[in-house]
Amino acid sequence: MDKNKMQSLMSLPTPCYVIDEQAIIKNLEILQYVEQQTDCNVLLAQKAFSAYHLYPLISEYISGTTASGLFEAKLAYEEMKNRQIHVYSPAYTDDEFEQLLGMCDHIIFNSFSQWKHFREKALQHKNIEFGLRLNPEYSEIETDIYNPCFTNSRLGITLDNFEPDELDGISGLHFHTMCEQGADTLERTIKVIEEKFGKYFYRMKWINFGGGHHITKPDYDVEKLIDCINYLKNKYDVQVYIEPGEAVALNAGYLVTTVLDNIKNNMDIAIVDTSAACHMPDVLEMPYRPYIIGSEEANVLPYTYRLGAATCLAGDIIGDYSFNKPLEIGDKLIFTDMAIYSMVKNNTFNGRPLPSIQLLKSDGTTRLLKQFGYDDFKSRL
Ligand SMILES: *Cc1c(COP(=O)(O)O)cnc(C)c1O
Repeated sequence: MDKNKMQSLMSLPTPCYVIDEQAIIKNLEILQYVEQQTDCNVLLAQKAFSAYHLYPLISEYISGTTASGLFEAKLAYEEMKNRQIHVYSPAYTDDEFEQLLGMCDHIIFNSFSQWKHFREKALQHKNIEFGLRLNPEYSEIETDIYNPCFTNSRLGITLDNFEPDELDGISGLHFHTMCEQGADTLERTIKVIEEKFGKYFYRMKWINFGGGHHITKPDYDVEKLIDCINYLKNKYDVQVYIEPGEAVALNAGYLVTTVLDNIKNNMDIAIVDTSAACHMPDVLEMPYRPYIIGSEEANVLPYTYRLGAATCLAGDIIGDYSFNKPLEIGDKLIFTDMAIYSMVKNNTFNGRPLPSIQLLKSDGTTRLLKQFGYDDFKSRL
């Protein structure tokens, strides 16, 4: 990061998330290139990133959004005007479905029973397209909690449960079996999907490849993704959709925190004003170790600290990090890659304040997008 940006970040009140506009634009340019080379539609999976202040910018580059249910669909309807809205949920309520009919372009069902339940109502809406999520029972994800194809998964229809006689009114098929993976995984997945379900593709208008494509990661093979899309599109004469979440805002955000105290218990421990449990739950859930600018793994640089939150959860530890100089109370630290799956998942456990949300603009200045306070804690209880 250049000095100017760093200084801007260091001057902000903490804790705060900072969305890096320039980094988002860089990602969007890659996604737009994929659209241009394939004529596919790229949809932001709002589950990963719903900071709607950026939706007007995002809509200049890609075709729209996908939603996990009513609220995300509604957010897109309100904040990303005149762009496509798709929705998939493992199950819709009657009331939710009724409202979705007024907002969505595509509605995807998780089972034939949901499709049959809503079919009559659905087919009164000629301007909406309906699809089914498949479970090809093939994925290359090691972490069960993020693997839609693990044993007895509820997500998607397996070949055994596929009912070819119930496809009237269905215009597309959807699969989502990847997580932070490359185009080589997609290529192998498509092979399996084709073997199992390929004969039904000829009857479809579209195929949706879901998310989990790490498209904006530096070593991602974008040309292979383009080949995969064009291959399927040409072979079956279908429109292809992809719905990346992470890739839209990958490496495009920070979480700035302040050191509140220094203590010792066999090792040096720093207590900070952010929390893994509250502000970056994937650190505990995935789990993973977020990077801090200027740090190394424990014991690489002279001063090693365990960073923990000011919550009473013993395991609310962000990780062990080493630095070139001792951490002083009041020092600020910058966690990277904090735009995705952070703001959308945070909570006020322990009554901890929510980080504010700042925008780091392309000219290096910052703008406060959102500030939170006591009422945000109280109002939910
Ligand atoms: C989570 C999810 C996405 C987005 O996944 P990313 O890993 O953030 O790209 C897209 N579609 C569906 C159905 C999902 O569940």
